[in-house]
Amino acid sequence: MSPQTISNDYTLIKAARIFDGTGSASTSGNAILLNNRKIVAIAPAGELTAPNHSNLTVKDYGDSTILPGLVDGHTHMMAPGDGTHGDITGNEQDDVLLMRALQNARTFLHAGVTTARENGAKNKVGFSLKEGIQMGLSEGPEMVISGRPITITGGHFWYCGSEADGVDGVRTEVRKLVKEGADFIKIMATGGSTWSSDPLKPSYTLEEMTVIADEAHRFGRLTAAHCASMQGIKNALDAGVDMIIHCVFEDETGMYEFNEPLAEQLAAAKAWVNPTLHVVQAGIDHTERIGYNRGWLTKEEQASIDSSKASLETRNESVSKLIKMGVRMIAGSDSPWGAYPPGEFVKEMVALTKAGLSNTEALVTGMSHAAESIAVGDQAGTLAVGRPGDVLVVGGDPTADLNALWDVKDVYKSSLRIERPV
Ligand SMILES: [Zn+2]
Repeated sequence: MSPQTISNDYTLIKAARIFDGTGSASTSGNAILLNNRKIVAIAPAGELTAPNHSNLTVKDYGDSTILPGLVDGHTHMMAPGDGTHGDITGNEQDDVLLMRALQNARTFLHAGVTTARENGAKNKVGFSLKEGIQMGLSEGPEMVISGRPITITGGHFWYCGSEADGVDGVRTEVRKLVKEGADFIKIMATGGSTWSSDPLKPSYTLEEMTVIADEAHRFGRLTAAHCASMQGIKNALDAGVDMIIHCVFEDETGMYEFNEPLAEQLAAAKAWVNPTLHVVQAGIDHTERIGYNRGWLTKEEQASIDSSKASLETRNESVSKLIKMGVRMIAGSDSPWGAYPPGEFVKEMVALTKAGLSNTEALVTGMSHAAESIAVGDQAGTLAVGRPGDVLVVGGDPTADLNALWDVKDVYKSSLRIERPV
């Protein structure tokens, strides 16, 4: 159905509760009417009807909750999420990566994610993924894409194809990405897991970072910076970057220190933080599983488990301090990166509750706040009349237990019910 077609098909959905995604308490007794890709009414179930002569489908989900479709603020659809190292994935052919990305995008959608912000894929894969989904060639969430992350020569994700150095180089690269269709600019402010990069060291100079942020903003694009250590956070904030990803408070020797002035700068800048907690736990679980199946762990595996556990502990501590200081968190899974499989976004929201958010606050980090942080707050993350009919129905009450999000009853995208394998 093209957006211009006026459809005569109406769907009325009702359930015990509606949680609108803003953080307001759930309401009971209401229902939602969908038509023509949009939410056309939210009102007491008894008062809602479709016009005469329309085709009305009524779905009563009983003891379930109607929610806005989830907004995952951080995905890497080209990756398998099975523990394969990024450098191995980055060495694969584009057409294979695109096929995997399409498969993953479907898995995300079936798990209730109707909007995803893609934080970087190789060459044209991210752009093609978005285009293919928009053309209806494959099912997936609404994609907000960076295309490729900007990185220094040999920096984190260099294999994606956007290495750029010096103020002229990075300015050109931002313009190139905008020309190709990037919705936002992802910056690798420090190294990461990429073998030729160092997560503890900043990559760009402040001067380069400032040019990237300014140039992106001049084109009306938001910026998000991967910051695996402290100087990267500092550079990103000084440059005016809009979102800090990972936000690891470690210095160049790997020593954890909660830097109070930096945290205050973060709060004052109103920068969003996407702490990506579960991807660390997923890595620990994966290595432990290898050890369990083999019967023993190598020294390196044990060391990696120990350091990841220590790092997760300090990350939890810093995130809970940041929350208390009023820093705004969003849930972005970073999946299927590392060993974090697709379709498990709920685990990141659960991880945020361990760092101090209530269930309702954690839901908001994956709904209205996530949408606002990626500049689609008027389209996604909240149930309201006139918005796209992106709706998730789950059994039970996720404000009482986030694990209710696993019990997906139905997903609607643009008011159409998605057929899922059972
Ligand atoms: Zn990432």
